[in-house]
Amino acid sequence: MPKCLYCQRENPSAEVECCHCGMPLPTQTDTLNERSQQRFMWFCIGLTVFCAVMSVWLPRSLV
Ligand SMILES: [Zn+2]
Repeated sequence: MPKCLYCQRENPSAEVECCHCGMPLPTQTDTLNERSQQRFMWFCIGLTVFCAVMSVWLPRSLV
C-alpha cells in the first residue's frame, strides 16, 4: 500500500496518483530505481562479455 507523501493517506497499490489529493505517489521513483538497476545489470553483462572476448582474442593476436 503506497502512502501519499503529501496527505499521508494510504492508496490502492495500482494507483499512480493519490486518490485523495491527486499528487504522484512514490511508486514512480521505485520504477526509476528498477530501470537504473536494469541498466547497471546490462552494463555488467556487457563488461563480462567484453572481458571474455578480450581474454580469448588477445592471446591469439599476440602470437
Ligand atoms: Zn495524497
